[in-house]
Amino acid sequence: MNNEVINKNIYIIRCGEVSLKGMNKPYFERILLERLKKAFKFNNFNDADIRWIDGLIIAEVPSIYDREEIIRAASKVFGVASVSYAIKTGKEIEEISNDAIIFMKNIMLKEDIKTFKVKAKRADKTYPIQSPEIARLIGGAILKGINSLSVDIHNPDCELHIDVRREGTYIYRNKVKAFGGLPLGTNGRGLLLMSGGIDSPVAAFMMAKRGMTIDAIHFHSYPYTSQRALDKVKMLVKQLSSYMGDINLHIVNLLPIQEEIVKNCPASEVTILVRRFMMRIAEIIAKKNEDMMLITGESLGQVASQTAEALVVTDSSVNIPVMRPLIAMDKVDIMDLAKEIGTYEISIEPYEDCCTVFLPKHPVTKPKLNYIENSESALKVQELINSAAESAELIKIGLK
Ligand code: ATP
Ligand code: MG
Repeated sequence: MNNEVINKNIYIIRCGEVSLKGMNKPYFERILLERLKKAFKFNNFNDADIRWIDGLIIAEVPSIYDREEIIRAASKVFGVASVSYAIKTGKEIEEISNDAIIFMKNIMLKEDIKTFKVKAKRADKTYPIQSPEIARLIGGAILKGINSLSVDIHNPDCELHIDVRREGTYIYRNKVKAFGGLPLGTNGRGLLLMSGGIDSPVAAFMMAKRGMTIDAIHFHSYPYTSQRALDKVKMLVKQLSSYMGDINLHIVNLLPIQEEIVKNCPASEVTILVRRFMMRIAEIIAKKNEDMMLITGESLGQVASQTAEALVVTDSSVNIPVMRPLIAMDKVDIMDLAKEIGTYEISIEPYEDCCTVFLPKHPVTKPKLNYIENSESALKVQELINSAAESAELIKIGLK
């Protein structure tokens, strides 16, 4: 009897790269399962039974919960490649056929379907019937059971998958693509320099998708920047936390340093100097919190401070690796990803950023390190960065 009858829904959750992990595979599999269980709990999908069975994760969830919502929650877990709603049945052809007909009729309650195609797979190689024959038999039974349907191999309205495995047979329709990547928490910890813009949340997403746990630091110039600008950053972090769990957000007022720079250094160098200070303060906070690297949303050539020369001068201010996952991406592609992950609409709210507060009219686009260092010698760099780092305020942002 299929699970639709017994009030449980089944979801097949496939992992991507986790399955290629060789010796470390059990470790990645364990973390992925933990992440999924957490995500289900977080969304209050109670009494879900989620486990690995022969290379797939099978989730059995009470059917009171919305299918789309479950698929969405599972798709947000990094390491998941795709999800399918399925029914589980026995391994006799007759039983599979009967349940395939019920499954198809349920689809037809909501959709106008005239043509179909059956695709069969036999993960259980001891099963006596080969895949093309399984597809032919089930297809034949559906044709007989539902008069209005015909087969279309090339362009069917509905493609039905029959997956015969050791523990039983799954019937499903489509695979909903998820983000892939690797489970969160399997690849170190990094500190994101988080503005209120479009790019930095996307940068965080890309690193987290590869398994990195994310902390964030935001610089403001209160009272030149407003409380609402800060609230926007918190909203962005909250949206990120729906993928990344709790995030530590460090908040630093950069104004005292900006004022020193404006007072003592050439106007055209203000932006690049401010960036070097941001990086230095971030480095101190990172090392205190066991963040192994800094992450920024910079992209080559996007603005004056992101030319190749400017990036080199920025990097030379710190002794910690700086990851720039967007470095070779075009803005339109970054924007598309921002829309997909739900940060775009928040990012385009028009609030001021500390970088724009003292924006020079003609910033240097090809800064030279010795000039910049010379300008910096007018400042008490160590004192300034230490006191900024000490003043950092920490807030924890999560879904709750
Ligand atoms: P974004 O869209 O992320 O704001 P951007 O294109 O506006 O990026 P910049 O303002 O030059 O570019 O910032 C480049 C990077 O520097 C950002 O992606 C972010 O990592 C970091 N950054 C900028 N402003 C801040 C800030 N106020 N606090 C923390 N980090 C910042
Ligand atoms: Mg910005």
